Amino acid sequence: MDFELTEDQKKLKESFAELCVKEIAPRADLIDRESIFPKENILLLGKTGFLGMGFPEENGGSQGDPVTKSVLGEELAKACAATYLSAGASAGLFAVPVWKFGTEAQKKRYLPGILAGDKIGALAITEPDAGSDVLGIKTSAQKKGNDWIINGSKTFITNGPVADYYVVVVYTDKEKNRDGISLFLVEQGTKGFSRGKPLDKLGVRGSPTSELFFDDCAVPGENLLGELHMGFYQLVQTLTHGRIGMAVYSLGIAQACLEESINYAQTRTAFKKKLAYFQDIHFKIADMKMYIDVARELIYKAAWMLGREDPQAMLFASIAKLFISEHATRIASDAVQIFGGYGFMKGYKVERLYRDAKLGEIGEGTSEIQRAIITRFVEEQY
Ligand SMILES: Cc1cc2nc3c(=O)[nH]c(=O)nc-3n(C[C@H](O)[C@H](O)[C@H](O)COP(=O)(O)OP(=O)(O)OC[C@H]3O[C@@H](n4cnc5c(N)ncnc54)[C@H](O)[C@@H]3O)c2cc1C
Repeated sequence: MDFELTEDQKKLKESFAELCVKEIAPRADLIDRESIFPKENILLLGKTGFLGMGFPEENGGSQGDPVTKSVLGEELAKACAATYLSAGASAGLFAVPVWKFGTEAQKKRYLPGILAGDKIGALAITEPDAGSDVLGIKTSAQKKGNDWIINGSKTFITNGPVADYYVVVVYTDKEKNRDGISLFLVEQGTKGFSRGKPLDKLGVRGSPTSELFFDDCAVPGENLLGELHMGFYQLVQTLTHGRIGMAVYSLGIAQACLEESINYAQTRTAFKKKLAYFQDIHFKIADMKMYIDVARELIYKAAWMLGREDPQAMLFASIAKLFISEHATRIASDAVQIFGGYGFMKGYKVERLYRDAKLGEIGEGTSEIQRAIITRFVEEQY
């Protein structure tokens, strides 16, 4: 067992961190304040090869494994959580099922543009009446000749207002429950498909989220993604990638909180002493460091298992996401506390981090759902 990153990973981390600090972090506040979709950042991430890491080179991918992607992802989430989220929805939640379950023609059509950052993708599962309960969705597709006619609506979809391509989760046979779900590729501009305005959110305000509407929306048979009725199982695999990605999101935010807190504690004076002198501040910083370091190891383990296609990767993805997302919310709250009144003010990074952190406990399955998944694994084991 070796806990060290390789020399290549260390070098890559260093150069990617530099890029994030120079090119991405400086605009994060503006992106948040004015809810600007960070398309330029996504193009840059395409150019550097980050979006394509681990995907086949013939589809526009570049070399890389899930651990290295997590190492770099932390730097991106630390610099700008909104960019991280939108990039992940496009080159992760959309691109992963296309890569894993798509036909050669689908991979050729969709992956190169997405992995270059030219095109934007989204994955649409959640509906107004069904989020955690995926089998409670109502959107359906009926076969008509060679076409499938989709009807229904989705909500809270990351990149919803700006995407070029969508993977849409529907029932193709409602009677069959989890064995009646399928995935379809829908392109922006398809007749019968429309999207709502960006929803006004607490955090990650630069990553646009919206409703999607399907009104007798006809897509050709070749837009079925993967096997008919196998969508639920394809989704489960996709969400293992997504949950590790979401854990990295929380890790980056938590690490940013730690660094901000240390810097502030070393400069701010109270009672003629630096804040860093007070034991209460030490305890907060020590706890941040402890939870962040434990989480990082957990995430790397989950990512390593994913790279080996270990069936337990799903369990570790849930453990890692649950652990760091809940601690990141606490860590962000403590960071605001260390900043005192300034921490509550717009323009202070910890104020944004505090708002962004909460999504880690909701997106890609809430903490309650992660606990349910972990319990199921434990029950099967004992
Ligand atoms: C910013 C943002 C971006 C998002 N992006 C996407 C996206 O790109 N694609 C997409 O499809 N979705 C997306 N979502 C939706 C997200 O995945 C859902 O919000 C989430 O899965 C929870 O579903 P819900 O909101 O319907 O809550 P509900 O499922 O209604 O849950 C409400 C509460 O009840 C709890 N609960 C539900 N069931 C159980 C249970 N069995 N046991 C215990 N507690 C339970 C939940 O944990 C939660 O606390 C996004 C959401 C946000 C906020």
